[in-house]
Amino acid sequence: MARAFAKISFTPDVQAVQTEMGSRRAYSAAELGDTEIAVLSQFEQSFIAERDSFYQASVSQTGWPYVQHRGGPVGFLKVLDEQTIGYADFSGNRQYISVGNLRGDDRVSLLLMDYPSRRRLKIWGRARVVNERREPDMLAKLELADFRAPVERGVVIHVEAFDWNCPKYITPRYNQRDVDSLLEHARQQKTAEVQHTQAALGNGALPLIITGIRQLTPRIRAYELRHVGGERLPNYRAGAHLRVPIALPDGRITSRAYSLTHAVDERDSYYQIAVLRQDDGEGGSSALQQGWQIGTRLNSDIPENYFPLHDDNRPALLIAGGIGITPINAMAETLAARGTDFQLHYTGRAPEDMAFIKDLQRQFPTQCQFYFSQGHTPTRLDISALLANAADNSVIYVCGPTRLIDSVRQTAHQLGIAEERVQFESFI
Ligand SMILES: Cc1cc2nc3c(=O)[nH]c(=O)nc-3n(C[C@H](O)[C@H](O)[C@H](O)COP(=O)(O)OP(=O)(O)OC[C@H]3O[C@@H](n4cnc5c(N)ncnc54)[C@H](O)[C@@H]3O)c2cc1C
Repeated sequence: MARAFAKISFTPDVQAVQTEMGSRRAYSAAELGDTEIAVLSQFEQSFIAERDSFYQASVSQTGWPYVQHRGGPVGFLKVLDEQTIGYADFSGNRQYISVGNLRGDDRVSLLLMDYPSRRRLKIWGRARVVNERREPDMLAKLELADFRAPVERGVVIHVEAFDWNCPKYITPRYNQRDVDSLLEHARQQKTAEVQHTQAALGNGALPLIITGIRQLTPRIRAYELRHVGGERLPNYRAGAHLRVPIALPDGRITSRAYSLTHAVDERDSYYQIAVLRQDDGEGGSSALQQGWQIGTRLNSDIPENYFPLHDDNRPALLIAGGIGITPINAMAETLAARGTDFQLHYTGRAPEDMAFIKDLQRQFPTQCQFYFSQGHTPTRLDISALLANAADNSVIYVCGPTRLIDSVRQTAHQLGIAEERVQFESFI
């Protein structure tokens, strides 16, 4: 993307200043080669879909730039396809400066901000105005079902370039929705503090304390657990899980199994699990997320393993669906550390719902493939092609929804792949 951005922005005057300031050499590489076509990946598409405002600059006939703030409900700036975005134009103060500017010059520059996470995306494109009479279908696509403001027209922008900026100097700011969610979190933490002045949960053999919590996705939280006394924890093989005690809201103690998400770290002894909050279950996962805080103590069982990774050098084909990534992530890390060939195919709804996706992309860029069932360009895992092309001696591991596991097992059976080469784990 850097080339398209550089071609638009690094004018001779800009280049001259870069030369004077000593940054020209670093930036000139971005201009080499043909201009790239700007294609919004799932990351840009998700970022755009989460915004409730942006700034838009247009070019006026006087040559002056005109910057306008545009706001609406979350997602009002829509991704129409990988190269097109658009929004419905609600009636405002009736100055019509941006719309008027677009008559003479269709170029716009957008700045999209995510203040709490300190991220910003710049987009350059060519905009056209859409009206109900000529393009009713397009306008219908841009309208928002639950938003009552009168729509006067639509603006459709063909994206020509985009660029992510560094977070430096972005002050985190929070809107009412963010503040409400942070307050709710603080309230839950307070309740939990009261809870963990009480005795350790459960009566398993392993005394653990929670030493870290990370929100991986809106519904998945990762927990780091260490020995209460700082002792080394029992080792495990990738594929293992930990059965942990959970206090239910009615005071009963129950337990649930959670896969250990990382390869054993020889230098540092800790366990990590990642828990998806299931809103339609018996409440174990939501009670865990509500009750477990840093400092919570529990007596868990020692790890067990019904899904062990082979320990010879046969290549592995790893297939994960949704939260089924947890044991598969530990397997990928273990195989990489050992130098054993593997491929990982990870399918989920959308990148923002998929745990470990960024770490996997960073650690194993050539071994991982991702598939998204939602979004503008859904991608599907072709199980038949995958298994048909797998090496004859590879071991296949699958973890995720029942239908994914069943489909891999049935396809393997049809292709004559021996049963012992297909290992699976269901979380149900
Ligand atoms: C070995 C193992 C490893 C696991 N690892 C993880 C992990 O890493 N991360 C994680 O988040 N979870 C993991 N789980 C699942 C976890 O143990 C809990 O089941 C999960 O957190 C949900 O608990 P719950 O009490 O909230 O809901 P539950 O009442 O347990 O229900 C969970 C979901 O399953 C459905 N369900 C329950 N029973 C059945 C059934 N018999 N047939 C069909 N559907 C059913 C429910 O409708 C609901 O959607 C693992 C389970 C096992 C057995």
